Amino acid sequence: MARLVVMGGGVSGHTAATFAKKWLGSKHEVVVVTPNSLWNWIPSNIWVGVGEMKKEDVTFALAPIYKKAGIDFRQAKAISIHPEGNASGDKPYITIEYTSKEKEGQKEELTYDYLINATGPKLNFAATPGLGDANGIGEHTVSVCTADHAVHASHELHKVFQKAKTKNKKF
Ligand SMILES: Cc1cc2nc3c(=O)[nH]c(=O)nc-3n(C[C@H](O)[C@H](O)[C@H](O)COP(=O)(O)OP(=O)(O)OC[C@H]3O[C@@H](n4cnc5c(N)ncnc54)[C@H](O)[C@@H]3O)c2cc1C
Repeated sequence: MARLVVMGGGVSGHTAATFAKKWLGSKHEVVVVTPNSLWNWIPSNIWVGVGEMKKEDVTFALAPIYKKAGIDFRQAKAISIHPEGNASGDKPYITIEYTSKEKEGQKEELTYDYLINATGPKLNFAATPGLGDANGIGEHTVSVCTADHAVHASHELHKVFQKAKTKNKKF
């Protein structure tokens, strides 16, 4: 039996994990390590941002899906990769840190035979002056890069609409 570990349960990681499990069956193990409990269809965040959809419409819980599919789900972030093992053995492993409420902060070493790194982009709004802070919230800008950003963007857009409806059109 081989163990495939997928780091990141986003668009590519989730796709890779579900197809791998389907093709490999019960003879091999598929483990997904990802910090969020919810999957997010990011392209539809724009509809949340403009108030046409709710966060619940663009997200779903990963745990029940993975349980049904026979995928080992770890709600955690990968913090280091050790392809050559360590002093006590040459088995490759990654270190993970749990983010779920029950195990928050607990660290673990997870060995693998095959590893997929699907951790996606690192959002860095603050690197561009004017684009806001780490959450993409600026004086004049909002983000729809995550479902929560999109919920915030929707509130801000609603405020603009409210202001536009008043007699004072300056905003
Ligand atoms: C508003 C918007 C609209 C878009 N529209 C389209 C579109 O119409 N068509 C299109 O093709 N693309 C679109 N994109 C781009 C598309 O969403 C991305 O290309 C895609 O999500 C990238 O997939 P990914 O799996 O690489 O990263 P992500 O989907 O971002 O997934 C990365 C995952 O890795 C997890 N992760 C991060 N760090 C760690 C770690 N240390 N350990 C474990 N897990 C970690 C993250 O939590 C996340 O779950 C859009 C993007 C945005 C923001």
